[in-house]
Amino acid sequence: MRFSQYHFVDEIKINLEKLGFKKPTDIQYKCIPNILRGEDLLAIAQTGTGKTAAFAIPIIHILHSKLNTKREDGIKCVVMVPTRELAIQINSVFQTIGKNTRVNCFSVFGGVEQGAQIAKLEKGIDVLVTTPGRMFDLVSQGFIKLNRVEILVLDEADHMLERGFIKDIRDLIRFLPKKKQTLFFSATIDEEIKNLAYTLTPNPIRIQVSPKDPVSKNVNHSVMFVDMDDKRFFLERLVNENPDSKILVFVRTKVRCERVQKAMERVGVKSIFMHGGKEQEDRMATLNAFRSGEAMMLIATDVSARGIDIPDVDFVINYDLPDHPEAYVHRVGRTGRGTKKGFAYSFCDKDEVGLLSAVEEYIGKKVKVISMQKDDYKEITDLTVTKKMDLNQILIELAPVPNKRYGKKKARTK
Ligand code: ADP
Ligand code: MG
Repeated sequence: MRFSQYHFVDEIKINLEKLGFKKPTDIQYKCIPNILRGEDLLAIAQTGTGKTAAFAIPIIHILHSKLNTKREDGIKCVVMVPTRELAIQINSVFQTIGKNTRVNCFSVFGGVEQGAQIAKLEKGIDVLVTTPGRMFDLVSQGFIKLNRVEILVLDEADHMLERGFIKDIRDLIRFLPKKKQTLFFSATIDEEIKNLAYTLTPNPIRIQVSPKDPVSKNVNHSVMFVDMDDKRFFLERLVNENPDSKILVFVRTKVRCERVQKAMERVGVKSIFMHGGKEQEDRMATLNAFRSGEAMMLIATDVSARGIDIPDVDFVINYDLPDHPEAYVHRVGRTGRGTKKGFAYSFCDKDEVGLLSAVEEYIGKKVKVISMQKDDYKEITDLTVTKKMDLNQILIELAPVPNKRYGKKKARTK
């Protein structure tokens, strides 16, 4: 079914067309009718499958149709998200899909001056996108009232729990009317999410898409066994061979973030970095530079990049294996989004083999191994002969050998 066949208000259809959205994704196809019927949902789908529009489209349709008859002040829909960056991103999806409709959307987030945000709230908005912490501050200070809320969305519910937002969420629920529609969206599901869902709403309809393989089929992901000290050579090689590609590199800590950036700088590769220690405005500017393509390589920590939707990321590099296996799914899900295809490579040192096993257990399958001949490996790490070999070619040609580790580290000739 195409979007043009849905009974949405025309403005939504026009906006979807402009976005290039022709057909709903699986999760959108399954969720939209239930949401339009006013049902409570617990929706689970892999990262990058279009969950935002799955709730934004029907919500805008519902609110626009209601606002058509009578305009009442007050927030009608609250969308809670775990991070400020996500608040901005989700709000921008609402604004794009809701352009020229009667629905006003706005996001508030911590870390920036409140005045302007509150002035806007007073003017009356319909959809508010925010983090639970910030929302709680504003509600308890009396700046916003939630007594007219009809729809509550919890996006990235799994991450919200991880970040310890559960108390804020429960406190906030007390300010919302009892009778409302509640929608949960999450990439992963476990007991805790189910508990949260079932305590906030007794009878949600559960919709799950591709639960068996949490990594989207649009992402071709594999692992290479690379010694810790050699990782930068592999990254450098990848960049040099894919000069026009957008590359998102994940590292474990803030310190490593800055170190990898310096290492790249030394070999003439331009990159920017982002981690939780950076100021909010700085993080936004960094993200925008990567989004616009002004910078083609972004080095980030998990905490700074979760859920972020950046168009056209060609490669995701797990420069360090993640400490938490679910982060793997979120990281590689930054590429191959919507209908696009993408590549993800993990650089696994011998000390990280345990982390790789945890990832494999979590995703329920082995990660494809790119095995390398010693000479090929050495050529990559040997700067004096770098130009002779084509890493891309190796990546394509080498057949996956399950869990075969590359042999002992060779001394580099430098
Ligand atoms: P999720 O929340 O599931 O991780 P997002 O909502 O961030 O995914 O969407 C991922 C990407 O897919 C975005 O770039 C979005 O623009 C794109 N997208 C969403 N729905 C569609 C669609 N129906 N057709 C094409 N692209 C889509
Ligand atoms: Mg999402």
